[in-house]
Amino acid sequence: MSISVSLKALGSALPEGVVLVAVSKFHPVEALREAYDAGQRIFGESRANEMASKAAALPDDIEWHFIGHLQTNKVRTVVPHASLIHSIDSPRLLDAVDAEALREGRRVKVLMQLHVAKEETKFGFTPDELTEYLTPGRVEALRATDIVGVMGIASNVDDEERIRRDFRDIRTTFDTLKAGVFAGKPEFSIISMGMSHDWPIAVAEGANMVRIGTTIFGEREY
Ligand SMILES: *Cc1c(COP(=O)(O)O)cnc(C)c1O
Repeated sequence: MSISVSLKALGSALPEGVVLVAVSKFHPVEALREAYDAGQRIFGESRANEMASKAAALPDDIEWHFIGHLQTNKVRTVVPHASLIHSIDSPRLLDAVDAEALREGRRVKVLMQLHVAKEETKFGFTPDELTEYLTPGRVEALRATDIVGVMGIASNVDDEERIRRDFRDIRTTFDTLKAGVFAGKPEFSIISMGMSHDWPIAVAEGANMVRIGTTIFGEREY
């Protein structure tokens, strides 16, 4: 399927209110251009330098979402371009992003990354770690960063019930934070979960932002 046909099919399959992040990592600028021409404006990238060079080559009205593991030494490359960073996976990274946003004189929106999958290599906070870490004092100490939701990746397994359970854990953690430290903060509203193979389950479990690459752009070449 062509990029524009895939985007159209996804557009009609996704319920209203679910935002599509077109994950374009490792794909050439021409592929992103094709998606742009088909109307897509939100792109997800997982490498700092790749995002910066694509941002320089493509129109300004694109919203760049950073979705990969972000090393603190790459924060300076990402902050000027990212309209949303999905992958805050440690206290140190949150501090680094906040310091850089302050230095740049801009505000940055971020999602806190949850680790719910059974794979040990995945980055992020466990639900307990995150709810303990995000105290009111911690959130208020941020000077240039707005935490607007959570992001997570389900286990990479065929077992649909396991995937569903992972998404449910992300959703429940969001609800706990929303009723707690983010009570009265409408900007805390995003649940980013679901990829090409599992987004229907994610949406059924409450995702309002999905990150889809392969279904749109085809297989990536590493
Ligand atoms: C690559 C990636 C995706 C997209 O995966 P597909 O299976 O190609 O849809 C989504 N989220 C994250 C964090 C990724 O790294």
